[in-house]
Amino acid sequence: MDNYVTDRKVLFREVNHGNRMRPFGVVVPATMQHEFMKAAHVSAFAGHKGSRITLQRLKERFYWPGMGTDVEAFVAVCKVCRESKDPLGKCASREHLKPLVAPSEPNVRVHADLFQPGAVSAAGHKYVLVITNAFSKLAELVPLKDKEAGTVARQRSSILGSADI
Ligand SMILES: [Zn+2]
Repeated sequence: MDNYVTDRKVLFREVNHGNRMRPFGVVVPATMQHEFMKAAHVSAFAGHKGSRITLQRLKERFYWPGMGTDVEAFVAVCKVCRESKDPLGKCASREHLKPLVAPSEPNVRVHADLFQPGAVSAAGHKYVLVITNAFSKLAELVPLKDKEAGTVARQRSSILGSADI
């Protein structure tokens, strides 16, 4: 039986870690699971890896019940992967995607993805900005009311300026 805790309105799943329950993995609401799988598999940084790697990537930070089956089903119907000529069944697109060199210190490179879950929060937030630090792999989720360039840029600079993510 899983335990769940909330911290700053984000739902975390708790896991047993050295005899203590610790928050691990942001629980992704059903309305956003598809977008998260897209980010982990389809985005320019994801490069259409197989379901095992896609799942591994998501599991580093996120959780939802049945995510293994969902990711497998998502990758199985990915059009780009299916059209790939790779005899091993892996995606061809990785061949012309140059791997990004891992940065040697924080804040050299961050990845930002903007999601629109389709639901509006009580406070009027419509979008979620996910900022992932390429160095630490830590992800920060920021609810946004609009996706104007100024709003997004403000969030990015306040996060990068305030924390060692
Ligand atoms: Zn794919």
